[in-house]
Amino acid sequence: MRTQVAIVGAGPAGLLLAHLLQRAGIEAVVVEIRSREYAEQRVRAGVLEQGTVDVLIENGVGARLKREGLVHHGVELRFAGRGHRIDLTELTGGRSITVYGQQEVVKDLVAARLAAGAPLYFEASDVRVAGFDTDRPRVTFRHEGREHALDCDFIAGCDGFRGTCRASIPAGSLAVHERAYPFAWLGILAAAAPSRDELAYANHERGFALFSMRSPEVTRLYLQVAPDESLDEWSDDRVWSELHTRFAGDDGWQPNEGAILERGITGMRSFVAEPMRHGRLFLAGDAAHIVPPTGAKGLNLAVADVRVLARALARWYAAGEEEGLAAYSATCLRRVWRAEHFSWWMTSMLHRAPGEDSFRRRLQLAQLEYVVTSRAAATSLAENYVGMPFGTP
Ligand SMILES: Cc1cc2nc3c(=O)[nH]c(=O)nc-3n(C[C@H](O)[C@H](O)[C@H](O)COP(=O)(O)OP(=O)(O)OC[C@H]3O[C@@H](n4cnc5c(N)ncnc54)[C@H](O)[C@@H]3O)c2cc1C
Repeated sequence: MRTQVAIVGAGPAGLLLAHLLQRAGIEAVVVEIRSREYAEQRVRAGVLEQGTVDVLIENGVGARLKREGLVHHGVELRFAGRGHRIDLTELTGGRSITVYGQQEVVKDLVAARLAAGAPLYFEASDVRVAGFDTDRPRVTFRHEGREHALDCDFIAGCDGFRGTCRASIPAGSLAVHERAYPFAWLGILAAAAPSRDELAYANHERGFALFSMRSPEVTRLYLQVAPDESLDEWSDDRVWSELHTRFAGDDGWQPNEGAILERGITGMRSFVAEPMRHGRLFLAGDAAHIVPPTGAKGLNLAVADVRVLARALARWYAAGEEEGLAAYSATCLRRVWRAEHFSWWMTSMLHRAPGEDSFRRRLQLAQLEYVVTSRAAATSLAENYVGMPFGTP
């Protein structure tokens, strides 16, 4: 088999890259180890920046997003028993975020690819990348019992944090910057109508909590827990009781309870591998960088990366221009590091570290107080949260 761009991984990064390339008249083959059902049901991110929404709509995969996405103009910070709204739209000259599940983005992109009859292999195994130091890269894999070898001009490593692409780059060629956090998130999906229209981030003495939603019928909630926490320790009653404690405030607001449809524990990590290119292998999305989910940036960074990569590849195929590909890593990393800082900052401001002393606690509260009372500080949070416009970091 031969194609122009071999894409490893059918998460948001791989699927959107394939879609953008197809619109530019560039052939691609997508190879994914999981099943279509698994990829389309995996519950993860849900907050789309304005720029992410714009890219999906401009490229013809935003019809359902426009119909079903929940546009939010603010978020709430809750601490010391009170809630404070940050008006994202007013502070950013009209920008907003949209709540639309990552699995819905994946469904829309898979549907677009299959409708176009473009190649997408689910349930591949033994996926390997080779030859990317030369001008003859190759991806090999097994599918439905047969061995496949895919020759290509470029490989896009969109296979997530634990994928094979980054791991195939020779040791010593990448600089890795990393931070693990001493806590994790226990996340639930509940069959309960969201009891408010906007997200609420709570800093409580017992730890962080986040109120979010996925639809008018489904609430998404998170609790800070220990990194080695066992789900077995968390009965439904304990989950709800802890959520009610951490969200308690003088306005009496609380999330609605409902049947817990799904639960899971997610570790928190910051990670960047740079450069995001090695020869003809380009890393995009979680394959190159991870942020703790507090800033809601992971999916949005994946979209920003592949937007840059698709444009650079289009210029290479149309006019033989190398500049875009040469600048790919540096262009993406400016945005990545802005998001890394924002995600680290939000995480540090909102979570309780084990053994935290009174000094650090007072600093957190002083920072929160500053963000909700200073227009300059609130604007900084808001512009990062809705996402910097493309063309800036
Ligand atoms: C529980 C959780 C909650 C999150 N919440 C948020 C949030 O609120 N907001 C936000 O912006 N981000 C959030 N994120 C992060 C966000 O989900 C990721 O940043 C996003 O999925 C990145 O997309 P991606 O396409 O780069 O990687 P992925 O979505 O990880 O996709 C990679 C794909 O590659 C496939 N793959 C792996 N190895 C191979 C291989 N060897 N060969 C072929 N295919 C392979 C995988 O099966 C997967 O389908 C969350 C993540 C998690 C885990």
